[in-house]
Amino acid sequence: MLDVIIIGGGPAGLSAALWCDELGLDTLVLEQKDQTGGQLHSIYGRIENYPGVRAANGREFLERFSERIAAAEFDLWTSVEIESVDLNARRVHLRSGEELQSISIIIATGVKRRQLGIPGEQEFAGRGIIESASRDRDQFAGRDVCVIGGGDAAVENALLLAEVCPTVTLVHRSKTMRARPTFTQQLQGHHCITIFPESVVTRILGDKKVEAVEIRRREALQPFQMAVQGVVIRVGVEPNTKLFREQLRVDQAGYVVVTSLQETTVTNVFAVGDVSNPLAPTISGASGAGATAAKVIASRLNASK
Ligand SMILES: Cc1cc2nc3c(=O)[nH]c(=O)nc-3n(C[C@H](O)[C@H](O)[C@H](O)COP(=O)(O)OP(=O)(O)OC[C@H]3O[C@@H](n4cnc5c(N)ncnc54)[C@H](O)[C@@H]3O)c2cc1C
Repeated sequence: MLDVIIIGGGPAGLSAALWCDELGLDTLVLEQKDQTGGQLHSIYGRIENYPGVRAANGREFLERFSERIAAAEFDLWTSVEIESVDLNARRVHLRSGEELQSISIIIATGVKRRQLGIPGEQEFAGRGIIESASRDRDQFAGRDVCVIGGGDAAVENALLLAEVCPTVTLVHRSKTMRARPTFTQQLQGHHCITIFPESVVTRILGDKKVEAVEIRRREALQPFQMAVQGVVIRVGVEPNTKLFREQLRVDQAGYVVVTSLQETTVTNVFAVGDVSNPLAPTISGASGAGATAAKVIASRLNASK
């Protein structure tokens, strides 16, 4: 019987693990990927907003984090496939057949990018679907591109690509954009960015690589095709709660509902980081939530001894 099982090895899970370790709790972190870090691996731009740390990108940030983790004594298993979780019994069944049990569970499974589910989205991954404008924009210099989405991430990608691409078409579903005003102001009158509001991309087309997108505008009956050589898809994220969403309270979008102490509706089960924070996901928020959960667990365990 472990004191704590932490599911997810991103900033929230790792921060919780560091605090659990410091507070003397017998802790195991389970990470599905072959390395920890979560979304840090997708941050190609500078990180300037975490107190005390400035990093050129997510990987550099993670290196600093990892130095501290290497010195800690909690157990960390990577490439773990969780078959099922019984939150009430705090029992985790792995696909390998192993069964683990703990007094507390911390859910730190974060979020993943939402997919459009349109033809071409999977086929052209790495063949014209742009993973990140900060990382890949030199590769797309001189080409026409389409960015799908109306939030901060979509507009940020469009602005970066507009520095090197002759045309950038921004397609988004609503009438107005969700992106913050400092971003949308830069779009107004931009010489190479065209915006299609109330529009959706219905197909990504091509042979070996992306050659065009099919766009349907709300007022138009027929979709039309537009030649592009690159597509960025930024239509939001969804929480990784499939494993346990039937067992605790989640909001309409599937995010775990927590108290200010990171408690879920199941006794001794906590949720930290983006998986329980739809409105303000940040590395500092995730780390703080991890620390809170660890401290609450430790104080309750001590009180029950
Ligand atoms: C492009 C980009 C730029 C960003 N820039 C900033 C920034 O400048 N400043 C800032 O503060 N924040 C930034 N963020 C947000 C920040 O990265 C997140 O808020 C933070 O990573 C959340 O940490 P987390 O641990 O909650 O979740 P995640 O980082 O999503 O980590 C979750 C982990 O759980 C694992 N997991 C999921 N399901 C399972 C399962 N079933 N079993 C085992 N493991 C599982 C995942 O593999 C992952 O490793 C940025 C994010 C992106 C994508």
